[in-house]
Amino acid sequence: MASNSHSPRFVRWSGYFAPTLREEPGDAEVVSHRLMLKAGMIRKVAAGIYDLLPLGLRGLRKVEAIVREEMDRAGAHEVLLPMVTPAELWQETGRWDVYGKELLRFQDRHERWFCLGPTHEEVITDLVRREVRSHRQLPITLYQIQTKFRDEVRPRFGLMRGREFMMKDAYSFDRSDPEAEATYGRMREAYDRVFARCGLRFTSVEAATGAIGGSFSHEYMVLAESGEDQTVSCSKCGFAANIEFAATAPIPSGSRSLQAASDAHPGGRTLQGTPDALPGSRTLQGASASSDAGSLSAPRRKIPRLPGEPSPSPIEPPAPCPKCSAPLSLTRGIEVGHVFKLGEKYSKAMKATFLDAEGKERTMVMGCYGIGIGRTFAAAIEQGHDENGPILPPSIAPFHVLLTTVAQDPRALEAAESLAKELNGAGIEVLWDDRDERAGVKFKDGDLTGIPVKIVVGKRFIEKGTIEIKPRRDGAACEVPPSAALAAAHEFLAR
Ligand code: ATP
Ligand code: MG
Repeated sequence: MASNSHSPRFVRWSGYFAPTLREEPGDAEVVSHRLMLKAGMIRKVAAGIYDLLPLGLRGLRKVEAIVREEMDRAGAHEVLLPMVTPAELWQETGRWDVYGKELLRFQDRHERWFCLGPTHEEVITDLVRREVRSHRQLPITLYQIQTKFRDEVRPRFGLMRGREFMMKDAYSFDRSDPEAEATYGRMREAYDRVFARCGLRFTSVEAATGAIGGSFSHEYMVLAESGEDQTVSCSKCGFAANIEFAATAPIPSGSRSLQAASDAHPGGRTLQGTPDALPGSRTLQGASASSDAGSLSAPRRKIPRLPGEPSPSPIEPPAPCPKCSAPLSLTRGIEVGHVFKLGEKYSKAMKATFLDAEGKERTMVMGCYGIGIGRTFAAAIEQGHDENGPILPPSIAPFHVLLTTVAQDPRALEAAESLAKELNGAGIEVLWDDRDERAGVKFKDGDLTGIPVKIVVGKRFIEKGTIEIKPRRDGAACEVPPSAALAAAHEFLAR
């Protein structure tokens, strides 16, 4: 269980800051956004810019801790680069000019241009070219977990597509193509571990590389109906790709290519308000909105769907698999991570070279690897929730156990406190709802926290000395003496 050493592991709700909402938030189109607002995990400050409140921050820190452990395990080293970055670096690669309005630019008091980093290829390449001279200092992979800013054209869905958001971005520098590909493979393994440990159902798919010919990329998709991305997969040969990538393959005559559909409507449309619209899932971003030169990846496109066009997409299954011609199936997903073999795109432009064993100057081969921390947490809620709130995997839930006392009876309070301490001593993080509130209010609020195991010290404790313990996700409640609670909690958390 990932635990967060920066936060207390046993918290009393009475002194906590978890301002839950009774009413439905008005502008939340997807479940995760709505539930994070209701649970008092986030609050909006401006479009795409949020406060992270204690419960939400704890959840994001859990994701961050898993990502950090897996990056370290893969041999990457953590750095922290500035968020404010000088124009000169971006001018070296030409991205100052090609990056559109997503790049938030400003001048300092000396009228020098800067921007808020939306991604850090230039900054890291500059660091590495200054410090690394010899083949003996390579290969190296550096990563950071940092706030990014992208002035997204349509920030929405809460943390899922913010303007300010937390990202892990890693960059690898290798001496040769084969070495770079081995690094890429190790990072893919790390990504598989990260998303598995976060308790997500996910898939990785081949994705479009756009302008960067010869390189390749994979996207990690959390399967969810509300996802903005579409993927196709072939159950026969195992081919799986982002639909944009699949669409670059020859399409049988008669079907309209995705590219054509997307080119015909560069402004993009939203289909909100169409009668069959699922919240969020039909809100599609247009081509101009997402062909961003500043993405970690090459320019890419979301799937614009035209009003009135039959769902789910311009490539209706069963389109044939471009590799084996078997029928493809189509799924929606949330892109939570993207790994990309950059090759020499940045190292060439910025002259990041090294001397090989023969003393010959050579260009470093790069890769870059992103994970959206907030988007991953939100995706977990898209996958795990019921009508009462999120149901989070223990690895990323803000706490492991929610302990609720329903009466202010001194014996119950005393038993709850000693139970909380016992669980805590065994490494279980406890939020104790000790507030003097009605039971109904407490149960409603409790379900909003997403905490996977619930313990109630209530009437039965006063009557018979037993407490109730149950998993947040369905499952029947067990009535046990407090002495059996620890074992039961461990069992539920391990499920
Ligand atoms: P998208 O196509 O969804 O805009 P992207 O291709 O621009 O994503 P990358 O540049 O590859 O994304 O960034 C790496 C990761 O950062 C993404 O996989 C995603 O998890 C996260 N991310 C990107 N943009 C945002 C955003 N606006 N809000 C939250 N997370 C984001
Ligand atoms: Mg983007």
